[in-house]
Amino acid sequence: MSLRDLYQEMIIDHGKNPRNKGILSSANHSHIGHNPLCGDKIVLYVFEQNGVVRDIRFEGVGCAISVASASLMTESIKGKTFGEFEKLFDDFHHLVTQGNEKVDMGKLAIFAGVSEFPIRVKCATLAWHTLKAALVDDSKSISTE
Ligand code: ZN
Repeated sequence: MSLRDLYQEMIIDHGKNPRNKGILSSANHSHIGHNPLCGDKIVLYVFEQNGVVRDIRFEGVGCAISVASASLMTESIKGKTFGEFEKLFDDFHHLVTQGNEKVDMGKLAIFAGVSEFPIRVKCATLAWHTLKAALVDDSKSISTE
C-alpha cells in the first residue's frame, strides 16, 4: 500500500467514523459553517476556559474530506490556546494549498493530497474557519453560566 493509499484510507475512516461527533452541553462558544460549493455544513461546539480549548465537538453533514478534517481538527485542538490554534491553522492551510509540511503535522499530514484538488481546499478548511469564527465572534457564543 502506498503512502497515498494509506492517507486516503485514513480520510475515509475519519469520514465514516468521526471522532468528537455530537452536541457539547458544556459549550460556551458555537458556530455554524457552510461550504456552498460542496454542500458541507458543520456546527462546532467549544468549551473554552481562560483561552484554552478544553473540549470540542461537532455535528454536520458533508463530504468525507470535510468530516475527516473536522474529526482530526477536534482531536488536534483539545488543550490548545487560541494562539496555538491560529498557528496550527496557518500550518494546515499551507499543507492543503502547497502539499508539503512546514512543520511536522502528525496525523493532519494526510490532507497534503488535497493540494492537488484546489476546490477541495474549502472542504478541508471549513472546520478550521468555523472554529476561528466560534472563538472570535462573541455574539454567537452561548453562555452556560
Ligand atoms: Zn466537501
